[in-house]
Amino acid sequence: MKKEIILTGERPTGSLHIGHYAGALQNRIAMQNSNRFETFVIIADAQALTDNAENPDKVRENVLQVTLDNLAVGIDPEKSTIFIQSAVPELTELAFYYQNLVTVARLQRNPTVKSEIAQKERFRGGTPVGFFTYPISQAADITAFDAGIVPVGEDQMPMIEQTQEIVQKFNSLYGKTLVMPKGVIPENTAARRLPGIDGNAKMGKSLNNTINLGDSADIIAAKIKTMYTDPLHLCIEDPGHTENNPVFQYLMAFATPEHFTAFLPEYKDYAELAAHYERGGLGDVKVKKFLNEVIQEILCPIRKRREQLERDPNAIMEILHKGTIKARERAAVTVARVKKAMKLEYFV
Ligand code: ATP
Ligand code: MG
Repeated sequence: MKKEIILTGERPTGSLHIGHYAGALQNRIAMQNSNRFETFVIIADAQALTDNAENPDKVRENVLQVTLDNLAVGIDPEKSTIFIQSAVPELTELAFYYQNLVTVARLQRNPTVKSEIAQKERFRGGTPVGFFTYPISQAADITAFDAGIVPVGEDQMPMIEQTQEIVQKFNSLYGKTLVMPKGVIPENTAARRLPGIDGNAKMGKSLNNTINLGDSADIIAAKIKTMYTDPLHLCIEDPGHTENNPVFQYLMAFATPEHFTAFLPEYKDYAELAAHYERGGLGDVKVKKFLNEVIQEILCPIRKRREQLERDPNAIMEILHKGTIKARERAAVTVARVKKAMKLEYFV
């Protein structure tokens, strides 16, 4: 039976962080290892340029970093195809055709694009067309591989909806050509949108509020020590708030009952710990110490693997090269199908 296809990936705008791990990578690895799917991992360098046009060096350097992160968490090039977006020009071609199927008003309503534009100082003088239309380019990335499943964090769900509308419109105008994708977000609600260490609603590479997968043990400890918590929880006895408190949201996303047994046996699980904090009588220092132990335990093996892989950048480029050749072949098949459906097939 033909395996269902997954398309997933990141923009090479910085090293990957625990928000990616919670929101997308964990799911991605589990799905890859289930052997029930065929996985394509896109390193979306062209999309990264839509808000980094003046900084091509940053994007280029991070292609390697993001690939290392993916391999370090367990993406296996024997099982998954990892590739570079800009080296698959078929994706640009598809995006060009899909532009006819989306209105300016619809893009303006996209809540993720709206909030990202509002956050970006560099767009004060105007938003680049490329950034404004990146949901269309994302629809091209997804449909080019006939992906039915797209594991993402919550911020990306509006993009999936936009892709679904494009697929619907394309298929109704030109006949059933494209596969309808579905977004998969984590079951754990805290993992869907991990907040930043500064209390910002989202940890984001471009927001300087991350704990990176490659951070050293000392850096992780220092970041957790200075992390934002409940500003109203001044004395240990004060009742605390776990909502909008990143320390608790991280614990909800990552702490398992095994972590409690190993590092904080006075509590059975997250619910017991959170209840004590909310009642009052539990200090931030103790909770942060536990969080540090949990995050260190998760990131230590990833960091070690990353350090090993980092020693041979040529091998990483070779993995990307092979993956890109395969991705191009697959995308070309879709482009041919799309052009035929749109009556753009001339010289066969
Ligand atoms: P940038 O700030 O450059 O947009 P980013 O941190 O948002 O970077 P992306 O490469 O845009 O990272 O996102 C890749 C994937 O990781 C997407 O599926 C996204 O939903 C998910 N993701 C990113 N940040 C988080 C987060 N804080 N919590 C959960 N999922 C996240
Ligand atoms: Mg993003």
